Amino acid sequence: MPINPEDYTCEFCGKTCKNIIYAAFVCDDPECIEKARIARGGPGGHMKRKAEGKPIIPEDLEAVVEGKSE
Ligand SMILES: [Zn+2]
Repeated sequence: MPINPEDYTCEFCGKTCKNIIYAAFVCDDPECIEKARIARGGPGGHMKRKAEGKPIIPEDLEAVVEGKSE
């Protein structure tokens, strides 16, 4: 049985669900999508992001990572 995302609400902000990403119901807000990615983490998450042509890590996180890597 097909799942209709709009029958669900975003796990993070409670708006109407538009996407099922990383096995999470999320709206179309990039912030919620990012939260889903972080919440699920795991192998493959970043690869999907890369496949979509998006940065693997957000700029603010990237700065934190760079700071810690020294
Ligand atoms: Zn949301």
